[in-house]
Amino acid sequence: MITFIFMKKEFVTLFLILSVSFAFRLLTYRENQSGAPPYGLSEEDVPKFGSIEWSREWVRPNVPAKVAIQAGHYMNDELPSELERLRDNDGSAGGGKHEWEVNLAISEEIKSILNENGIEAEILPATIPPRYWADVFIAIHADGSENTSKRGFKIAKPWRDFSGKADRLISFLRDEYQEETGFSWDDNITQNMRGYYAFSWWKFEHAIHPMTTAVIFETGFLTNYYDRQIIVNQPDIAAQAIAKGVMRYLESEGLVISD
Ligand SMILES: [Zn+2]
Repeated sequence: MITFIFMKKEFVTLFLILSVSFAFRLLTYRENQSGAPPYGLSEEDVPKFGSIEWSREWVRPNVPAKVAIQAGHYMNDELPSELERLRDNDGSAGGGKHEWEVNLAISEEIKSILNENGIEAEILPATIPPRYWADVFIAIHADGSENTSKRGFKIAKPWRDFSGKADRLISFLRDEYQEETGFSWDDNITQNMRGYYAFSWWKFEHAIHPMTTAVIFETGFLTNYYDRQIIVNQPDIAAQAIAKGVMRYLESEGLVISD
């Protein structure tokens, strides 16, 4: 009897340990499924507004409007050594596609729509040139979840937006994307999004200049059948919406004039 109770106790303990470790693994797995690299730097790490003197004195270069579209995870294996731990992070997958393929297709379409409208735009891979500046920087990603019914899109700005313009950019993008795709807004902005490595200029050389108006855009869930109908099968619809949002923002900045 004593032996039996002892064994029972041992069993319960073992069961508890296994349950906790399983739950932890599940959580970690979910994290890795997300489209944004698991790299979220916390808010406390970010320098405060005004703490960087040169950023207060910064003046926009006198050049035409410039837009950068980063195809998330594209050419990950070429990330510099400071970002070495992201080289294997391929993000999500679904519908027979790697996330980077989906991100790249949407990014290329955005670039060509902007170019057709006379706006200078370039595609960036996972590696950002050191202290990269543009009027608009959008990192294109696609989400993933083990719950395949999860859908929707979300857009986040850096923890501290030194440009002060990211909210306006987000509102234009959100309106256009919602209207064009019919997708609903997903409120679950993660630390991995706001602490995105390419926003983390105080930490990495290969990041945006702090005065770049930057957002990270999770265009939909690659693991969801309905979201894939647009982000995989009709990337031009997603791209059209994003390009429109960018143009509305540039107009509001007086950097382009609409016809
Ligand atoms: Zn991603």
